[in-house]
Amino acid sequence: MHRTLAPATRIVILTIATLLIVTAFAHARPTWMDGREAGDDPRAILWESKQAAFERLQEQLALPPTATRASQMDYDVTWYDIDIEIDEGPETVAGTVLMRATSLVDGLDEVILDFYDNMTVDSVTHDGTTASYSHNNDLITVTLSPPAGTGVEFEIAVTYHGAPVDDALNFDTHGGGNPIISSLSEPIGARQWWPCKDMPDDKADSARIAVTVDDALVAVSNGMLGSEVDNGATKTYTWFERYPITTYLVSVAISNYSSWVDYYTYARGTMPIENYVYPEDLSDAQEDLNITADAIAALENAFGQYPFIEERYGHAEFPWGGAMEHQTCTSYGAVLIRGDHYYDWILVHELGHMWWGDSVTCGTWEDIWLNEGFASYSEALWFEYQDGEAGYDDYIESYDYYGYFDGPIYDPDSTFNRTVYDKGALFLHMLRRVLALADGTQYHYPIDALESMLATYGSAYAYGSAITPEFQAICEAAYGGDMDWLFLPWIYGENRPDYEYSWIATNQGPPHSLMLHVDQVQSNAGLFTMPIDIEIQTTAGDTLVTVWNDQLSQDFFISVDAQPTGVSFDPGNWILKYVTQVSPTGVDDAVTAVALRAPVNPTRADAEFAYSVPATGHVSLVIYDVTGRIVATLVDGAVTAGAHSASWDGRT
Ligand SMILES: [Zn+2]
Repeated sequence: MHRTLAPATRIVILTIATLLIVTAFAHARPTWMDGREAGDDPRAILWESKQAAFERLQEQLALPPTATRASQMDYDVTWYDIDIEIDEGPETVAGTVLMRATSLVDGLDEVILDFYDNMTVDSVTHDGTTASYSHNNDLITVTLSPPAGTGVEFEIAVTYHGAPVDDALNFDTHGGGNPIISSLSEPIGARQWWPCKDMPDDKADSARIAVTVDDALVAVSNGMLGSEVDNGATKTYTWFERYPITTYLVSVAISNYSSWVDYYTYARGTMPIENYVYPEDLSDAQEDLNITADAIAALENAFGQYPFIEERYGHAEFPWGGAMEHQTCTSYGAVLIRGDHYYDWILVHELGHMWWGDSVTCGTWEDIWLNEGFASYSEALWFEYQDGEAGYDDYIESYDYYGYFDGPIYDPDSTFNRTVYDKGALFLHMLRRVLALADGTQYHYPIDALESMLATYGSAYAYGSAITPEFQAICEAAYGGDMDWLFLPWIYGENRPDYEYSWIATNQGPPHSLMLHVDQVQSNAGLFTMPIDIEIQTTAGDTLVTVWNDQLSQDFFISVDAQPTGVSFDPGNWILKYVTQVSPTGVDDAVTAVALRAPVNPTRADAEFAYSVPATGHVSLVIYDVTGRIVATLVDGAVTAGAHSASWDGRT
């Protein structure tokens, strides 16, 4: 049963005999930032290398990456067979990539693949027959003769060789000259080393990746190792990925690896966790990576079954500064392996991508937060799994490291940046509270509603791709109503609310009446409509209420059973915000209750309210709904001492 925060009308009456005087104070720099300088953010390791490589690649490309999207949408890839030899001496790649695809249009006479011009295409076949093609603008355009009709399956095979430009396929050494050849193709680097339809939302149903390397080296890729064939001076490692996979997640990692296998035990069996590391890092890696099975259990707890459970998970060490969530086998930076678990959070981040990024892939690069915000939020769930609420709360605070975020989460200023990762994670944190409220959860830690929504989302788009409106629709189904109020300012807009609040309470009761005044004073964004938790401390204990703040300046009248002594604004820190308490706060003897006689049925048309006040003064007679929203203002002005009445039409 889900319900929204839709109001039911009730009546709250207060008189306020004093005018509120609101004073703003400057925002203090949070104390937890003391001693930290700009550039210190340890989390930047997650995005800095990826963003730098992406910017280099965008400069290299002859055409914008989306220039060919319309014509490439005319076919759907079902299978890649990548059969390549990689030679660390001349730093070259040579081999054949076969793409099987289905035409989605009638009369498909041309197929465009992405492939860098510096690579040499030796031949192209269409269904086994030599085909004519051109190779320029970093594209291979193949003529289909005869053209393919709608639903017709065809195969294009490209035989090629060359030395890829640096980045997506990197040749390096470790440990005194041992080769390490590794790929990191996200977002659009696959085309640097193998020809493909390089779009995140067209996954091959499965793939075979056969890599021939020097016989002293081990070649690791996605899925399961099918065979290891000794050719004499070389070895061929053939991997099969039987789950759908997109191009940027196809990987190779090649070195003189040491490896070991752990196991993840689940209800129906065990799954191997295979780790490949530099021999010199073996003992440190065995320490650092030994949390992997626990981490899978923790994330399964939140997200449901590990998506590639019939295959494997694991890590392959590579020389990048960060890590990369290659499907079933994360590439893990050498600098992360220290033997002290310092980077457990990155291990968990990459594991989180198996659900969010690899199974459910961002449909476009504008939607990258659906990968990175979710993977970043996985980190907080790991610390909650380990240390409970305190671990979760501390970790949530760390996402707001600098106290500000630039640009929107959707279609961000740069594809890999703090806003995408960390504000994206904080959005899921806010969503957790919003969905819990809609599900009727009074206090905040239960995650059930968020988990339930994520399970729906994860299964609806499993092994496929999703865009932000599709995710919003899943959220709205869970919430039970439109959520533009949440998505528009937070996902498509920028910045955060800057709240100022004050409160005042009567000294009479019970019930005791408390008026909370909330202003949003941010000048760099419009209104943020949010449910805000308010904790009211009273002489009889604390009580939590949630107000629905949908105006830039708003009063809420709250009735409590004992004398209020203090107010905490969003005590669970669910909202990414700035907040300042301003005066007045506290109990004011000048706030005077009035004698009031409400009609028996207050919703009857033209109800009469009779009231009397002991002295001349300012009287407000306001009708609020249960969320604190003003339904009607019957009186707001100077009233003389004595008996009065006001009428209400029951509607406005
Ligand atoms: Zn990530």
